[in-house]
Amino acid sequence: MEAVKTPEVRELVRRYRDIKSLDYALSLLGWDMETYMPPGASRERGEVRGNLKTQMQRLYTHPEFISLVEGARPANDVERGIIRVLRRWIKFYTRLPREFIEEEERTTAEAFQVWRKAKARADFGVFRPVLERIVELERRKAEYLGYEDHPYDALLDIYEEGLTVKKCEEMFSVVPEISDLFRRVRERYPDRHPLEEEPYDEIFLRRLIEHVLTEMGFDFSRGRVDTSPHPFTVEMGLHDVRITVRFEGRDFRRALMAAVHEFGHATYEMNVSEDLWMTPVQTGVSLGVHESQSRFWENVVGRSRAFVGRFREEMTLALPFLRGHDAEDIYTYLTLVRPELLRVEADEVQYVLHVYLRYRLEKGLIEGSIGVDELPQIWNDTMEELIGIRPSNDSLGVLQDIHWAHASIGYFPTYAIGTMLTAQYYYRLGLRDAVGRADFSSIMATLGERIHRWGAVYPPRELVVRATGEEFNPRHFLRYLEEKYLS
Ligand code: MG
Repeated sequence: MEAVKTPEVRELVRRYRDIKSLDYALSLLGWDMETYMPPGASRERGEVRGNLKTQMQRLYTHPEFISLVEGARPANDVERGIIRVLRRWIKFYTRLPREFIEEEERTTAEAFQVWRKAKARADFGVFRPVLERIVELERRKAEYLGYEDHPYDALLDIYEEGLTVKKCEEMFSVVPEISDLFRRVRERYPDRHPLEEEPYDEIFLRRLIEHVLTEMGFDFSRGRVDTSPHPFTVEMGLHDVRITVRFEGRDFRRALMAAVHEFGHATYEMNVSEDLWMTPVQTGVSLGVHESQSRFWENVVGRSRAFVGRFREEMTLALPFLRGHDAEDIYTYLTLVRPELLRVEADEVQYVLHVYLRYRLEKGLIEGSIGVDELPQIWNDTMEELIGIRPSNDSLGVLQDIHWAHASIGYFPTYAIGTMLTAQYYYRLGLRDAVGRADFSSIMATLGERIHRWGAVYPPRELVVRATGEEFNPRHFLRYLEEKYLS
């Protein structure tokens, strides 16, 4: 990796270490909040984190820091990456007025409580007024941040650098084909599998998960596995990356596949080049590319016959009820396809359809072609059209995700990017054989060399072209689904 040598960029990297240190502390405090923090500490913790975030913004927007970034003449790819990433942060912190950020924070804090209540009552009417305010705020945010073609572009770019409505339309052009494929695949599968009901011993499943992660290459000397209500990955630094899992007591694939998913996120952060340590580019480049790593391990590697073959013996030792099930049956259980109302329950065939539905609604809300009051109706009609089932109430439909209560409009499309990119890696990085042999170290070496080690040096789109030799191409995903589910 090229070294940072230009004096201004070296000075920026030196100053950035203060920012990174605050970020490190914030990540550790956030991890603790979700895992071990006593419940009574939440207000105090909120205050401390808020203050640290303010400190961080101050460092980013310090006039000397900004003028160093503006005046820097980067001399190589690493330096260009550093300046690009810093410019993005500075833009974010300088274009949004302080009062706007405070209003957004107040509104989302309230919206979260209201959303929970609305969801429990399955009544969208309870959530509607506050969601109207959030949509208004996000439309204002788009104006502050600026865009060329479509206001939604400004919001998409927050989560996936360079993503636009135009690119989303290209990506989702395969939706009718996926929807058709899904209808054909679901006929081949039973509605339920008996293993979904099997209760397991949590201690044994935890040991199995640790074994699987070790075999796949998780470095326990630089990482941890804990439990939390929602599985997640958090990166403190290059040498401290933690994941969490959740044990629900039955249907073991949920905990196992969630662990494999978070493992994929974690390895991306653990494999960034040491040369980028403590710089602004020592991190995964975008949510979409991050999700492509987690979903590659979960869907392509984890939900494969080779994976079942590799771990069948250990699985049966940890989960004795598997004795009556052969490898093919376990594979069927891991890859079951049936219409789901909830995105988080969706298999890899229908998943993108759930994302597309949200994309269409968000785009409509931001451009003003869809009103908040129309959401439940359009949601239910689109579900029926794409997936063939209709939610019986709002909590199984329009109220299911937390994202809108968080004002995270523009986030969802990154899930589709990640899901579809897995197939592009599968074919274009020559990973088919390695997946077929469950050869984890060679998969890891390839992803590490082509993607991980670069951190955020290149913008996501350029990274994909450099890694796979072509632009993002959703057609690989169609081919992958056909081969895996219809051949
Ligand atoms: Mg994920």
